[in-house]
Amino acid sequence: MMKIYNTLTNKKEEFIPIEQNKVRMYVCGPTVYNFFHIGNGRTFIVFDTIRRYFEYRGFEVKFVQNFTDIDDKMINKANEEGTTVKELGDRYIDEYYQDADSLNIERATVNPRATEYIDEIVSFVKELVDKGYAYEINGDVYFSTKKFTHYGKLSGQNIEDLQAGARINVDERKQDPMDFAIWKAQKPGEPGWESPWGLGRPGWHIECSCMAKDILGETIDIHAGGSDLVFPHHENEIAQSEALTGKPFANYWMHSAFLNINNQKMSKSLNNFFTAREILSNYEADVIRFLMLSAHYRQQLNFNEELLESAKASVERIYNAIANLENLLEEVKVEVATDEERSYLNSLSKHKEKYIERMDDDFNTADAITAIFDLIKDINTNISINSSKESIVEALKLIRELGEPLGILQKSTKVSLEDEIEQLVEQRQQARKDRDWALADKIRDELKDRGIVLEDTPQGVRWKKI
Ligand code: AMP
Ligand code: ZN
Repeated sequence: MMKIYNTLTNKKEEFIPIEQNKVRMYVCGPTVYNFFHIGNGRTFIVFDTIRRYFEYRGFEVKFVQNFTDIDDKMINKANEEGTTVKELGDRYIDEYYQDADSLNIERATVNPRATEYIDEIVSFVKELVDKGYAYEINGDVYFSTKKFTHYGKLSGQNIEDLQAGARINVDERKQDPMDFAIWKAQKPGEPGWESPWGLGRPGWHIECSCMAKDILGETIDIHAGGSDLVFPHHENEIAQSEALTGKPFANYWMHSAFLNINNQKMSKSLNNFFTAREILSNYEADVIRFLMLSAHYRQQLNFNEELLESAKASVERIYNAIANLENLLEEVKVEVATDEERSYLNSLSKHKEKYIERMDDDFNTADAITAIFDLIKDINTNISINSSKESIVEALKLIRELGEPLGILQKSTKVSLEDEIEQLVEQRQQARKDRDWALADKIRDELKDRGIVLEDTPQGVRWKKI
């Protein structure tokens, strides 16, 4: 049985999908006016891991993550750069894929762009107006929060408190300070689309309501995002969607905690961020994911270099164990496992059971990682040069299997050995260019010790293992 902490009920609940063995999941994606930072990265990695884990447990996951490609930030940035909102969006969507792929984040089943859903959004808004849940003033359309009696149910805030907060910046035209724009009239210099209320553009909240419904249906299993989205974004999404359909919008609402820096939320506006790309230039995806997943997703995590270094050391420890096993595989003589070995291999399943038990309990990746370390320790003390190939293969398979839902431990150790040799060869070439013959000879000898010989060919230096 899988359990999920549901923000809507503030409880851990058994996960019961709408359709057996299927998960329909919507995650709020980035506004594509910049590179994403490693705080956004935490949220993307967390929900990628949750998706992978559902798949590991045999669910078929339809995973939708949108791109917000029209809003004030997009418009301002495009104006600053003297480009169009469309071009800006195209560019940063490409950059998003580059970084997300580098972080080993699986591609979503669908990545809708808000600007591709304008017709559907206009119909959505129109229906809300027709049903009396929304009203127009001079080309703007507002959602009437008073009409939706459950307003505030996700964030658990009482409507009077919310109203008091909202009064600080009252727009006189609204019927109530809590009302929010679902369609915005075009202002000079802004892009606009045709609508019954004149040229305009969608509000942020309506995009997600509309795209989730169009792609996944009126009621979905899971709606997710960072915890900053609980209010107002997700509260408003619920109001719009449930007002329209009269059905629950999402059965489970999941929110990942912030990645902080000096105990403050990492954010573009505070200018205290590192882009994912910056961090990726120094640390591998395995290390970054390991760091993110070493805390429970509902716990805030304070990002710093020490944490990165310690994640790096941990990942190296696991890869060393993998490399040792792979090397052993080439050395051992016996093919088939003995009965004794077989019963040992069976006993390894206790680590997998522990891993599954912890992941089933609201995706406790921190404990899942502990289970992987226990497995490694167990294998290190029990598998040796006297083991059979079969046992080593099984042990390796299990380590890789438990790494996969976390998006880690899938790299080949052989490739990295080759990379290392390539690097040494390059360093030697450089040494020769610098006429540092001593260093060049030293590297040649080091390579020779590792069974690598160098050949000068017309195409440059080649290496081979002897
Ligand atoms: P944005 O591009 O700002 O709309 O954010 C994209 C996603 O990243 C949303 O789900 C946010 O909730 C999430 N997010 C933004 N900042 C952080 C942070 N510091 N830690 C974790 N998630 C964040
Ligand atoms: Zn959203």
